[in-house]
Amino acid sequence: MSKEKDIIIAGGGPAGLTAAMYASRAGMNTLVLEKAMTGGQLWMSEKIENYPGYAEGIESFNLAQNMEKQAKNFGAEIIKDEITDIKKDKEVLTLKTASSKKYRAPAVIVCSGVRMKKLDIPGESQLTGKGVSYCAVCDGPLFRDKDVAVIGGGNTACEEALYLTRFASKIYLIHRRGSLRAVRSITEKAEKNKKIRLFLNEEVKQIQGKERTEGLILKSGKKIDVEGVFIFIGYSPAAGWIENFVKTEKGFIITDTDFKSSQEGVFAAGDCRYGAFRQVVSACGEGAAAAENARKYVEKLKGTSYDW
Ligand SMILES: Cc1cc2nc3c(=O)[nH]c(=O)nc-3n(C[C@H](O)[C@H](O)[C@H](O)COP(=O)(O)OP(=O)(O)OC[C@H]3O[C@@H](n4cnc5c(N)ncnc54)[C@H](O)[C@@H]3O)c2cc1C
Repeated sequence: MSKEKDIIIAGGGPAGLTAAMYASRAGMNTLVLEKAMTGGQLWMSEKIENYPGYAEGIESFNLAQNMEKQAKNFGAEIIKDEITDIKKDKEVLTLKTASSKKYRAPAVIVCSGVRMKKLDIPGESQLTGKGVSYCAVCDGPLFRDKDVAVIGGGNTACEEALYLTRFASKIYLIHRRGSLRAVRSITEKAEKNKKIRLFLNEEVKQIQGKERTEGLILKSGKKIDVEGVFIFIGYSPAAGWIENFVKTEKGFIITDTDFKSSQEGVFAAGDCRYGAFRQVVSACGEGAAAAENARKYVEKLKGTSYDW
C-alpha cells in the first residue's frame, strides 16, 4: 500500500514536530513518521531550562507533548513506524518502513536526530533492557536503592549520574580520561555529590550477568557489583537508511543554508544535520526553516510539472 503526501517528515523529535507544525499550518498535507516516541531526545532529559519563553524551565515531557499537540492541531498526521529505506523516481520520493508500508511525497525532511553510541563490549547488547540502559529518565526509577554505574564523562553522563542520585544508592561514574569533560557547573555538582563515586582513567571491559546485569569488569582488572549500567559516551547519527542517498560527513547530513541536502527534494534539520548546534531551540528553528523551504519546493513542482 502506498500513501501520498506533500511533505513527509522523518522523525518526530523537536525538529520534526516543528517542521510538521510549519508545513501543515502552511497547507501542506504533512506526515510525520516516528519510530519510537514523539519528542526524541527530550525523553532523555527531565527539564529544559534554556528553551525561550519558559523562565522557570519546562518539563521535557510537557514540551514534547505540547509540540505534538501543536503539530496535530494544524493537521499534521503522525504515524509510529520506522523508516528503513528511501528511493526516488522522477520527483517522487518513496519511504519504506519496518512494517512494510510505503509512503510517497515529493519532499522529505530528515529530522532523525542522533542515537547514543555503544561501548561494543561483551555483555552490552545481551543485557540491554536487562540492566543496561541509555536513558536515565526512562529507566532510573527501576534502580531505587540499588548500585549502578554511569559510563562517560561529558555533560550527558554527569547530568544523568546526578539524576540517578534520586533513586540509586550509589553511582559509580566511570570515565576513561583523567578528568570529567562536562561544563564546570555540572562537573562540580557531580564531584560534590556524596552518592557519586568517580572512577577516572578507567574503562569498562565487560558487563557481567546472565538474565540481569550483575557487575562490571574494568580494564584495570577491578570488579564492581552493579545492577544497572547507564552508557553515555556520545552520539552517532541515526540516519543509516539515508546515508547512501545523500551526501554526509561522518554520517551527518550535509545541507546548504536552505537545509537542502545533495538530493533534490530531501531536506534535513536538527541534530542529524552536519554542523548542527544540537539544542532544542536550534532543532526547532531548523525544522521551521526546512519546512518553509520544502513547502516552496513542493509548490513550485505543483505549479509546473508536479501534479499529485
Ligand atoms: C540527556 C540530554 C539532555 C539534554 N538537555 C538539553 C537541554 O537542556 N537543552 C537543549 O536545548 N537541548 C538538550 N539536549 C539536546 C536536545 O534534546 C536535542 O538537541 C534535540 O532533541 C534534537 O532534536 P531533533 O529533533 O533534531 O532530534 P531527536 O530529538 O534526536 O529526535 C529524532 C527523532 O527521530 C526518530 N527517528 C530516528 N530514526 C528514525 C527512523 N528511521 N524512522 C522514524 N523515526 C526515526 C527518533 O526516534 C527521534 O524521536 C539534551 C539531550 C540529551 C540526550
